Amino acid sequence: MRESVPSPAPQIVAIVLAGGRGVRAGYATPKQVVMLGDKPVLRWSLDALAGHGAISGGVLVANDDVMAAVGALPEGWISELPGEERQASVANALAALSDRADDALVLVHDAARPGVDDAVIARLLAALAAGAEAAIPTLPVPDTLVAQTGGEAGDVVDRGALARVQTPQAFRLGTLRRAHAAATDGVAATDDAQLVRRLGVPVVAVAGDARLHKLTYGEDMAILSGLLGVGTMMRHTVGMGYDVHRLVAAKPLWIGGIEIPHSHGLEGHSDADVALHALTDAILGALGDGDIGDHFPPSDPQWRGAASHLFLSFAAARVAAQGGRIAHVDLTIIAEAPKIGPHRQAIRERIADILAVSPLRVSVKATTTERLGFTGRREGIAAQAVATLQLPEN
Ligand code: MG
Repeated sequence: MRESVPSPAPQIVAIVLAGGRGVRAGYATPKQVVMLGDKPVLRWSLDALAGHGAISGGVLVANDDVMAAVGALPEGWISELPGEERQASVANALAALSDRADDALVLVHDAARPGVDDAVIARLLAALAAGAEAAIPTLPVPDTLVAQTGGEAGDVVDRGALARVQTPQAFRLGTLRRAHAAATDGVAATDDAQLVRRLGVPVVAVAGDARLHKLTYGEDMAILSGLLGVGTMMRHTVGMGYDVHRLVAAKPLWIGGIEIPHSHGLEGHSDADVALHALTDAILGALGDGDIGDHFPPSDPQWRGAASHLFLSFAAARVAAQGGRIAHVDLTIIAEAPKIGPHRQAIRERIADILAVSPLRVSVKATTTERLGFTGRREGIAAQAVATLQLPEN
């Protein structure tokens, strides 16, 4: 019996929240089950908490599809379905822990932070052992902060008075129960410490850790891979694009994102930049993400006369949203006139700029068709492109 043990250490349990859909990260699957190194993101925090010597069990809050992807639960762990919001998910987990005593300790953790750190847990538990009812890890804010409305930067906000809040957060279980019981008045909290503070109970801040970085956007996978010292499994994909536009008199000629002086220009709904269109299609092809017409329908008047670098930077953003990178693009412009050769370097640099990659990753070539066919008759210009991407395996 616990009562018979002299000065028993309080029981410690964990709640891991993996109920979010992770739409911001741009993945088809929930971000909690995206592979980070050799295991899903969620498995990192589950293994760290379940493997912690002082933690006797826990509740994983996740939907069935996430449960299926993450594998068997550690011994002493149970699962619970999420609620509509984070707060409801924690309430579900607390209900599942109803057999635990009020003086037990609980760590509440967001699965989107895979880098659970023993030193942070030690600091949280030390704060509770010293008498605190609640303790959270925080980090200073390194950037200058300003108020901002729309595109205009406003006054500087004193960053010395601010901190970034991480998880896990540690509570005496009875206190967290009271906080959630009191939160049925419509309050929507983004973490549990806020609810405890509403009780008038102070929350102690301990030093957080950079490894607890949160997976929110696709690019966070690269950051987490570095912080946790793992290589993300990458696959290479290749896409091709092809486009043709007709040459007409007295129009500006845009090729490869630059304007080239010429008697004729290309006809089309947008600025008709045949090279950027082929390249956009190549990148979308390597992503398996449709084609330029799917994303920018010619029937939509908002793209009339549009500068085609918008299409190309959109495609590059789709790559970044998946945590991928552009390894290389290769472009061939097929034109009898004007001569493209003198503009090759400018086009290369412009495309590198639009894609936010080194010009070393961009190849631009030009050819004629020996006066044969529509390009040879100067009726139009064609472009072919190949894009090679590195995408995370998921
Ligand atoms: Mg086109």
